[in-house]
Amino acid sequence: MLQKQKGTLDIYGTDGIIYKYIENTIDSFMNLYNYEYIKVPTFEATELFYRGMGETTDVVNKETYDFVDKGDRKITLRPEFTAGVVRSYIENKLYVEGIKKYYYFGSAFRYERPQNGRLREFTQAGVEVFGVRNPKADAEIISLAYNILSSLGITDLVVKINSIGDSESRNNYSNAIKDYFKNDYDNLCDICKERLDKNPLRILDCKYDSERDFVKNAPKIKDYLNEESIKYFDEVKEALDLIGIPYVEEETLVRGLDYYTDTVFEIVSNIEELGKANTVAAGGRYDNLISLLDGPSTPGVGFAFGVERILILLKELESYIPKDKLDVFVINMDESGFAFQVIDDLRGSGFSCETDYTGKNFKNIWKVVDKLDPSYILIIGEDEVKGGYITVKNNATKEETKVKSSELIDYLDMNL
Ligand code: ATP
Ligand code: MG
Repeated sequence: MLQKQKGTLDIYGTDGIIYKYIENTIDSFMNLYNYEYIKVPTFEATELFYRGMGETTDVVNKETYDFVDKGDRKITLRPEFTAGVVRSYIENKLYVEGIKKYYYFGSAFRYERPQNGRLREFTQAGVEVFGVRNPKADAEIISLAYNILSSLGITDLVVKINSIGDSESRNNYSNAIKDYFKNDYDNLCDICKERLDKNPLRILDCKYDSERDFVKNAPKIKDYLNEESIKYFDEVKEALDLIGIPYVEEETLVRGLDYYTDTVFEIVSNIEELGKANTVAAGGRYDNLISLLDGPSTPGVGFAFGVERILILLKELESYIPKDKLDVFVINMDESGFAFQVIDDLRGSGFSCETDYTGKNFKNIWKVVDKLDPSYILIIGEDEVKGGYITVKNNATKEETKVKSSELIDYLDMNL
């Protein structure tokens, strides 16, 4: 039997309902915060991710799905959206339009060891805000992420924030931890040995070394932020306080990617089911990325949700709105085609409607009806067609009424 690939999911049944519920909730929040939808390609030139994300990040080193296509192009399936959205922003000269606020929703691909909440194809939903460097913009996206998760019914959340400073602060800090780690060079993992020269900050983010005491005791970025970076971070926190978003400062939070500056954050859930894969949203400011990808120097800030991780949480919490009830089921026992027209009219008037085309006997059709549990059941047989009426049964009260065909829509409008 053919089976799905390792680390991929079929989402159906209750999961399908929850997944769409998450997507719809995100859509309505994005509307509330005035974000524009952007859809970018699933695959891009490999070079985009190498340049955008840095060649020594975990994601680009080991996790990307790279291939050479039939035209000998080096292609990569997107492991995240930011690089692609920035490429699009530059290529389409969207910067001429002033501040842009985009949101996206779609698959991302990483060759990881699959486990609960860690997949090879997963869904990211997130935002990118271009053209504004202001602490309130950072606080706004953190609050947006937090409010979406809260409104989905996830309350057990921790917002972790930190500042990794502007380029100047980061350079000073980089030099300090380079010095610090030199003494422990032999104790670093092989990847971190390489990182020490190229980008020592990433050692703090390493899945292995970050657990170890000499890394935990390393100098903290906080002590290396210049005045402007400290002021910026203070203002982010003040803005979060103003709107009552709870947060904790996490000194060791650095995020793995090259392009982050100043604010970085993660939203973590403490629910057991997610195990180590408990970060449901992550993001930060990236004032250097757009110029790094040959665009005009433009500040940016964004975050991404892991939608399947949210799905696991909502399923566990049983926190979702079930699918809307079916308005009408039409039982058709007439050959004339009249019922087929009625169904079309009903759907055209906005009533959800189902019927049965398989020609099951009456008893078996009722089984289908019971399972679907519609609000109303319409019976259309020869008598009804001849008499110009439809038998309408209220499925809750079991009351039956004969309604003139021409008055059916009005009748349902009044009663539903
Ligand atoms: P992690 O530390 O869990 O590996 P990350 O730092 O690699 O996460 P980001 O690159 O910041 O993750 O991606 C943003 C969000 O996308 C994560 O917070 C998470 O919710 C989700 N995510 C990342 N990788 C996966 C994956 N393999 N499967 C499912 N969701 C993922
Ligand atoms: Mg990862």
